[in-house]
Amino acid sequence: MLARATLLLFLALICNPHAIAQDVRIGVLGLFHPREAKLQASQKEAVIIQAAGQTFVVEPGSPTAASFRISNDALLLDFDGHLLRTTEIHAAARDNGAVSFLLTVPGKITRAYRGTLFVKASRGEVVPIITMDLETAVASAVVAESGSDTPPEALKAQAVVARSYFVAGGGRHGAFDFCDLTHCQFLREPPAQDSPAAVAARETRGLVLTFQDKPFAAMFSRSCGGRTRTPADVGLPGSGYPYFSVLCDFCYRNPYRWTRRLSSQDAALLAKGESGRLAVDRRLGWDAVPSNNFTSREEDGQVTLEGAGQGHGIGLCQRGAKAMADKGGGFRQILSHYFPNAALLLLGEHVASSARNERPLPPSSLSLIWAGREFRFLATE
Ligand SMILES: [Zn+2]
Ligand SMILES: [Zn+2]
Repeated sequence: MLARATLLLFLALICNPHAIAQDVRIGVLGLFHPREAKLQASQKEAVIIQAAGQTFVVEPGSPTAASFRISNDALLLDFDGHLLRTTEIHAAARDNGAVSFLLTVPGKITRAYRGTLFVKASRGEVVPIITMDLETAVASAVVAESGSDTPPEALKAQAVVARSYFVAGGGRHGAFDFCDLTHCQFLREPPAQDSPAAVAARETRGLVLTFQDKPFAAMFSRSCGGRTRTPADVGLPGSGYPYFSVLCDFCYRNPYRWTRRLSSQDAALLAKGESGRLAVDRRLGWDAVPSNNFTSREEDGQVTLEGAGQGHGIGLCQRGAKAMADKGGGFRQILSHYFPNAALLLLGEHVASSARNERPLPPSSLSLIWAGREFRFLATE
């Protein structure tokens, strides 16, 4: 009876959209420093654009795009023969809610999004900011951050990590909560509803990692080299969760090993820990020094590094999580292994969702924490 009541309570929580209704504001496509962007409607829904007191309708499936470009310090909206100078542009569905649309930076990229769009001009660039449902953002981050061979339970662990970050991270940009690069969390298009990443987000809907009842901005890296690290190990400041160094069985038995040769000048930078490693990577290119876990020796005026692992090695190890899932481990087991003493709680009912404002980490440290594949494109805001 008790079990049934608990089950019903749980179902009521996960079926109640208000329990976890939360949006995140994501600044997108800043990597391309756009001076122009184009918006097109999807095949199914009209997009309503509002600018300077006027309203325009982009019909579903219409090949006609609305273009926003920089004109001095303002935006020039160009749509269907109308030319309008404005400071901001809003786009949404007919009911003012989320809508699907395509955004293009001409000559660079076209991406599909779902949410409401706000566009402004800043420092000579078009800045598109999408307010999207938290769960859409989680699914989009999971698909962007996971390999295609990641098993479902490891994807679920990644979804909880991504959600925890969106809920408790942030505060590193002025006009929006997160960018779409690894500086915050890498984000692509929302995946199809039946894709493994979308299923992983749905099946963990609302679940976040908490410490002392507060969500924390959970970290992950691609492989740990045998043992995960703590922020202090790599010269990073602490955060809302005291990370532990845990044994990662798969990486311990089969570490991802690497060898690199550097000038002694570059190698000297590595003494600064993670910030030094990223400084070398910014100089020499991505993957110049894959991790902070290495031994070094001098040879012929050069330094040879022999190391293991990829990334900062803090928190969830994606390689170890995959191995645990391949052996039948569930996402709860994976998360409790890599985040000892953390609890999984359902957002909204058990956890205040305003945690993101409580403890924004300093930008300098966070730009290191999330640096990875695209750290060379770190936002400077
Ligand atoms: Zn960012
Ligand atoms: Zn590992």
